[in-house]
Amino acid sequence: MSLYNTQHIKLYNTLTGEKEIFQPITDGYVGMYVCGPTVYSNVHLGNVRTFMSFDMIFRYLKHLGYKVRYVRNITDAGHLENDADVGEDKITKKARLEAIEPMEIVQRYTVDFHNVLNTFNFLPPSIEPTATGHIIEQIELIQSIIDNGFAYTVNGSVYFDVHKYNESNEYGILSKRKLEDLIHNTRALDGQSDKKNPQDFALWKKAEPTHIMRWPSPWSDGFPGWHLECTAMSTKYLGDYFDIHGGGMDLKFPHHECEIAQNQASKGQAPVKYWMHANMLELNGARMSKSTGNYINPAELLSGDNDIMSKAYNPSVIRFFMMQASYRSVLDLTDDGLSAAEKGFHRLMDAIGIIDNLKTNSSSLFNITDWKQKCYDAMNDDFNTPILIASLFEAVKFINQVKDGSATVTPEDLALLKETIETFVFDVLGLINISKESAGGNKLIGAVEILINLRKDARLNKDFALSDKIRDELAEAGIQLNDSREGTTFTTN
Ligand SMILES: [Zn+2]
Repeated sequence: MSLYNTQHIKLYNTLTGEKEIFQPITDGYVGMYVCGPTVYSNVHLGNVRTFMSFDMIFRYLKHLGYKVRYVRNITDAGHLENDADVGEDKITKKARLEAIEPMEIVQRYTVDFHNVLNTFNFLPPSIEPTATGHIIEQIELIQSIIDNGFAYTVNGSVYFDVHKYNESNEYGILSKRKLEDLIHNTRALDGQSDKKNPQDFALWKKAEPTHIMRWPSPWSDGFPGWHLECTAMSTKYLGDYFDIHGGGMDLKFPHHECEIAQNQASKGQAPVKYWMHANMLELNGARMSKSTGNYINPAELLSGDNDIMSKAYNPSVIRFFMMQASYRSVLDLTDDGLSAAEKGFHRLMDAIGIIDNLKTNSSSLFNITDWKQKCYDAMNDDFNTPILIASLFEAVKFINQVKDGSATVTPEDLALLKETIETFVFDVLGLINISKESAGGNKLIGAVEILINLRKDARLNKDFALSDKIRDELAEAGIQLNDSREGTTFTTN
């Protein structure tokens, strides 16, 4: 029996505006699609937070025993400025500025994106498809939307007919907008556009002669509209109707609204059972923006090379900080907040580090089974990581009480406590155990790591005398080695 048979998740579905019991379409399997980055610049820290939220959700679903196919795309073509259908392709624009190939831009920033996510200990998605790798699927999709009467062709470009669609469907169903209001709030077309109505959006754009990224199609040499790629890639790998579609709050409209319309118009059904949206990351109480200077990128935050924070922060400290807020809340990144998170993070790691050295007793003064369920209850309540972390700190308090002799624990309870806290901290929250020194980058780390590796070799050679000697002599020097499933870590006193 899998854990998901006993742990029932309730998640907030943007589509219904309610927390619903999570019931996958196929028992035991979850299909999850998250809109990935547009790779024309370094990944934004706010996007890192969004992807981290879905990494945590992916980790928890896997922990519960679900077989999860997690698809997160790379947008490497066709993402236009200004709501995706006018202006210049951002990737082409950047390529022209830097006088290099568009695919060179794509490669550079895809590598950067992966590096940043690896630094923050993300699990790779199951499939990471690219828009340029799915042009044929997008052309087929456009053809079926045209065939079903929901798109029209003008001068080699193809537009989705929102007004026609709204006659038999509800455009705005996800973002709770009404077409009449949208019409009321948009300016009339200036005569330059091929569109019938301002609300229509491009499925295919004919390329100007100077446009580098282009593909042949039945309508023109051109490129697909941005909204289209996610419909093509999500349904190709997850089916026409799948469980979870996630992304940042800012994608709800028009991007996700258009995905729903495209799916309805081509396949005659809504694509997604649960829509999930992660909230914004602010910096010092204001929106992050390069133009106002209220901006920090992941590399600057990690290196300390910036004018906003007082020092460098370890990726696990930043991850811990982000996990202290619900994915649905706005989170304000501040130096004080990070510094408090750093203290909390080390308290947590220190407590985990001493579990193996605790003395056990014939009775426990802490109900570990109840506490364990509290941890699950927090995660089952729409992935409420701040409540989970509060529960983890109840265990930290108890561990410290056992250490100073003011509480007792049985060997069985201690083993359960250790297993549970490690599962939630390392597997679900995705934190990495680091000692205080590694946060500051001390040379001691390297030296101890060499000794840990020597000890590992000694154990592999069954030289337990040497392995124990390394452990004991390090302990005498005030360095405790802690063996766990993830390997050996150390703490200092
Ligand atoms: Zn998307």
